[in-house]
Amino acid sequence: MNNIDEYRSLMSQPQNVVITTHQVPDADALGSSLALSRYLSKLGHQVKVITPTEYPSFLDWLPQKNEVIIFSEQNKNICEEQFNKADVIFCLDFSSYHRLQGIENYVKSSSAKIVLIDHHLHPNVIADFEVWQPEAAATAELVYQFIEKMGDKSLIDVKIAEGIYAGLVTDTLCFKLSTTTSTAHKIAAHLLELGLNSSKIHTFIYDNNKVAKIKFLGYVLQNKLVHLPAFRTAYFIITAEEFKKFGIGLGDTEGIVNYALSIENIVLAAIIIERTEYTKLSLRSVGDFPANEVAEKHFQGGGHRNAAGANCPQNSENLEKYFLEVLKIYQNQLLAM
Ligand code: 5GP
Ligand code: MN
Repeated sequence: MNNIDEYRSLMSQPQNVVITTHQVPDADALGSSLALSRYLSKLGHQVKVITPTEYPSFLDWLPQKNEVIIFSEQNKNICEEQFNKADVIFCLDFSSYHRLQGIENYVKSSSAKIVLIDHHLHPNVIADFEVWQPEAAATAELVYQFIEKMGDKSLIDVKIAEGIYAGLVTDTLCFKLSTTTSTAHKIAAHLLELGLNSSKIHTFIYDNNKVAKIKFLGYVLQNKLVHLPAFRTAYFIITAEEFKKFGIGLGDTEGIVNYALSIENIVLAAIIIERTEYTKLSLRSVGDFPANEVAEKHFQGGGHRNAAGANCPQNSENLEKYFLEVLKIYQNQLLAM
């Protein structure tokens, strides 16, 4: 943030703050939002966290998650009121307005000051204050550094630490992605010194699966893998009926794409999941292959070099056909990796 004095002056008096993040918030989105919320509340601000949709149930353990307002048609008025009275809106972990879905216009048309804290490429969010670092491992890393920069490191307690750690551990895939620097480890070390129980959090996040999810995973691995060695690509494709049949929920498909990526010699992995309103495409890549470029150029999506996605209007069958056409464009690049 280069206009930090202006930010300090704005926040020197108690403000009405709304923190918002992307649809189907993941652990980085929700963990960062709740950590920031607790920090700003400690400074005397009135803070609300508003998400565009529900978050996956594996995040139910996050401290203060009961305070999250989930936007829906039923509570539209409550959300609108909060956005109308906001002096400051923090936009966390997204760079593209459309990921706000139903609350997009509240943010766009607001006269509040906008603070962006994010690590995605090519943000189109217009902000008065920006903490934007595409090389950061997680938005949670940026939230931690922001608190530190404001001279408030001593305000980080175990609850704030838990939100930050959740984002850090999931966005780095347990500290294994190439985005994991010594910074991420140093932050984690400090959070542990504060008394954070990391093993408890790993259990909440990774060993907390519903039986239906595990059965669904087994079904998908056994029946739905498409392996294309000629493109160094592997993907899964799931129809809306399959999704419904297994009685799984939002977020229960998270991580499945990594099984395709773990196959030897694979450079690009994908999962296509048909939902009622749209079909979700998730892309993962290794090394320098730009999954974000594929998502942006061909599917109106976006993301990071090694993890990107898009919500597509086609059904799963048509999206698969189109995806196979797109692969041809990248075949040489995929084989050269
Ligand atoms: P996932 O596949 O886990 O849903 O998303 C991986 C990454 O891709 C996210 O961190 C986000 O950066 C990006 N992403 C996913 N869906 C979309 C989308 O619809 N639009 C944009 N711009 N980015 C997305
Ligand atoms: Mn993130």
